[in-house]
Amino acid sequence: MPSQFQSRSEIVKTGKMLHQRGYIAACDGNLSIRLNKNQVLVTPTGMSKGGMKSSDLVIVDMSGRKLKGRRDVTSEIGMHLLIYRMRPDVNGIVHAHPRTATGFAAAGMALDQPLACEVVIGLGQIPLAPYGTPGTPELARTLEPLVPQYDAILMANHGVVTYGVDLQSAYMKMETVEHFAQIALVTHILGRQQLLDDAELDKLIAARHKYLGVNSAAAMPVHSSNGDRNGSCQSQSSKSKTRSLRDRAILRQSEIVSPFEN
Ligand SMILES: [Zn+2]
Repeated sequence: MPSQFQSRSEIVKTGKMLHQRGYIAACDGNLSIRLNKNQVLVTPTGMSKGGMKSSDLVIVDMSGRKLKGRRDVTSEIGMHLLIYRMRPDVNGIVHAHPRTATGFAAAGMALDQPLACEVVIGLGQIPLAPYGTPGTPELARTLEPLVPQYDAILMANHGVVTYGVDLQSAYMKMETVEHFAQIALVTHILGRQQLLDDAELDKLIAARHKYLGVNSAAAMPVHSSNGDRNGSCQSQSSKSKTRSLRDRAILRQSEIVSPFEN
């Protein structure tokens, strides 16, 4: 575990990167690090995450009660605590509103097509959680069913949340999500999507175990043999196929080791 001092600088640095990359505007977004099993260091509400000082951060306990800090804690603390409670392997969380990925979320579209091999290996698919009012328990409830299985989630009409073993890993996943959203958008503009097929997905599942270890239970992307040229819903037959693909991916991973055991 990094020291509290290191964690504070890490959050300040990552907030600047989110702002410089245009992933957040005004006072958007929030970041946190799990300091220990009872304490979380988190960004305050009502200030730009691109211009924070270490002393602006707040420490809360696992029920969200403020233990230290001059400022008020982010209104999205419930989402952070939910993820820490459900994922003992997670020590860093980033929430932001990157333009392209949030555009997909506002269009009601998950990033769940196997278009780019690196994303398939790293994140599997990026699902879309239903809309929940920000700053309310409703938001955390919409994420709850997805948190155990995914490391990056689109939040409908809102933004993106990513999390990982540390804050840097969570931030990298945010970059990957936005980069992939831009690639997916280009395929929609071109009007053509050449999806990876079942055999290739099988090889990528194997590569995920080999290169990344088994620290993600993310389902593999949805594969539609007809392609999905307009981003609309899948056909029934491709939905069944998707289920079998997901089942196979999850089964493979559970055969090796539970993601929460390391
Ligand atoms: Zn937000």
